[in-house]
Parts: sequence; C-alpha cells; structure tokens
Amino acid sequence: MESLEGLGVGSLKVPPLVGGGFPVAMLQLCSVYYVGALAVHSLIPRFASPVTPVAPGARKAKPESSRRTKRQQILRESLLSIGPIAVKAAVFCAVEKIHGLGLGLLYDGALGFGTSLPAQAILVACTVLLLDALHDTWFYFTHLLMHRNRWLYLNVHYLHHQSRDPTPFSGYSLHVVEALIVFFDEVIVCFLFPMHVNLHRLYHLYTTLIHIGGHASYELHPLVPSLEQLLWIVFHGDRVAKGLNTVLYHNMHHQFPNKNFSLYFTHWDRLCETMKWAYPDEIQRIKKEQSGKFGEGKGRRRKHRYYFALIACMTATLGLSLLAYLLAYNVFLRVA
Ligand SMILES: [Zn+2]
Ligand SMILES: [Zn+2]
Repeated sequence: MESLEGLGVGSLKVPPLVGGGFPVAMLQLCSVYYVGALAVHSLIPRFASPVTPVAPGARKAKPESSRRTKRQQILRESLLSIGPIAVKAAVFCAVEKIHGLGLGLLYDGALGFGTSLPAQAILVACTVLLLDALHDTWFYFTHLLMHRNRWLYLNVHYLHHQSRDPTPFSGYSLHVVEALIVFFDEVIVCFLFPMHVNLHRLYHLYTTLIHIGGHASYELHPLVPSLEQLLWIVFHGDRVAKGLNTVLYHNMHHQFPNKNFSLYFTHWDRLCETMKWAYPDEIQRIKKEQSGKFGEGKGRRRKHRYYFALIACMTATLGLSLLAYLLAYNVFLRVA
C-alpha cells in the first residue's frame, strides 16, 4: 500500500478503492454520504447565494420551533440512513466477491484493455451513460412497484415518504428492504457488459451524491451533476431539458407521491403517464424566480458568479469526502 509520506502529510496511507471488504466500503459510503449531505445542506446555500427553494416558503425566516423540527428531521434521517448504507456496503462486498470468483464481466488491470487515452475516455463516458439509463429504468419500475403494491408502500417505502419536505439527508433515509431492492441493480450490471471494477465502485459511490442532490431543498439546475446534464449544457446552455430530471422534479414526488417516479430522465414518467402535469410550468417559474434574484443589468455577471460558486462548492464537497475517507481510514482501519 502506498504512503503519502513523500507528499509531506506524515505517514498517512492511501486507502484502497476496491478490495477492502465491508469496513472499507462502509467508510467510503459514510464519507461520501454524510460529508456530501452536510455540504449540500449548509455549504451551497451559504456560498452559492442566491439558491432557489423548490418548495414555497422553504427558506423563509422560520420560528425556532420550526427550525428545531427540521433539525430533528435531519437527525432522524441521518440515523435511518445507516441501515441502507450498510446494505450498499454489503452489495459492494458481493460485487468484490463476484469479481474475485471470476464471475460476471468486471475486469481489472488496464482500462479498456490498454486502449489509447481518448478511447478510454469515450469508453468511460459511454459506460456512465449506459449505467445511468439502466439505473433510471430499474429505479423507475421498482419505485412504481413500491407505490402500486399497498403492502410494500405501507411497510417499506412509507419510511422515505415520512420526509414530505426532503433534506439532503433524505437521500438514503430508506427502509433496508427498499435499499436491497434499489441497490440490487449494482449486482445485475456486473453481468450485462464489461466494466472496470474501479469504474463500478466509483460510479456507485457517485450515485450516492446524486441521491443527496436530488433531495436538496433548492434547485441545483443547470448544474445537476450528471453526464447527461453536462452534455446538455455544452449544446443548449442553461435552458431546462424536457428529458432530464431536476431537484424540483423529485421534490414534487414527495409532495404528490403518485407522480414523478424517475431518477435521471423523464421518459418513463412520460410514457407511463405518471409525470406531474404542473411540473413544466413550475420549473419555469423557479428559473424565472432565480433569474429575478440575479437582477437587471449586472444579472449576467451575478449569474456567472453563482454558477462558479456552485461548481466550487461541489468540487469542495468531493474533496472533503475524499479527505474524510483518507482520515477515517487512517484512524480506524489502517494496519501499520
Ligand atoms: Zn426521495
Ligand atoms: Zn416514492
């Protein structure tokens, strides 16, 4: 194992990405989830002002009793999230086992079997797009099932819907049975197409941030951190894409539980007629409210400053998650 001594950070050891079993997977997920949720909850509203709430009155000045209720909700969600995080860590272990036994299509060694750098970048991008599409499909239909089946809703999925006004900590505030259902696709994809084992781990750590961001109580658009959204920005700027999800989209699911079941894209909701009809107007209203906050004249500069601050906060979130994992590993798991 490598040491960071040469980088001047004492004798810290670089923790592994894959291969450390349950304790390593658990530390990775806790670092990403709790640091990420804390950053989305507190860092972004503070430094990327003006953020736009997705629920009316969500960030207006509130009485102490209401703030206390919110703190209690965050504490409850943080505690409830430990079970699903443990389930996801167990799924990571199962994937390590599958790979170790030579089952499935995961591989290690050189990415893309040693192809050139541009070819590797294209391979990673295509894999991520494919994983997003599959993950979205799995999430849509299992989520729909948990609403349509009364037993599953009342005994399993209701726990997530206790958060009617979500916070970033609602992301994995799930019943462990729901976690088993939702994360099972991480095992399925091992058998569908070749994928580097490191990419599998990194992608599924990243989806943790997607679940956190989807429950931010304010709109992150256009910087919803998915590859599809990035491609959309390159070709269409910061207009709202009809086919892509926003924070408001999932927030509406918490307000209207029989609508907006999807995760990344809106096509399944459109095809199955489960999209909240008021969504397109509502997202435009939020965008208008946001641009109103940038003001006239200097609005463009303020907008760019806001986007820059948002990207900086997201980068800091990733950096802090990595740092938390590095430190936690060296404190709790390092074997000298
Ligand atoms: Zn939710
Ligand atoms: Zn639901």
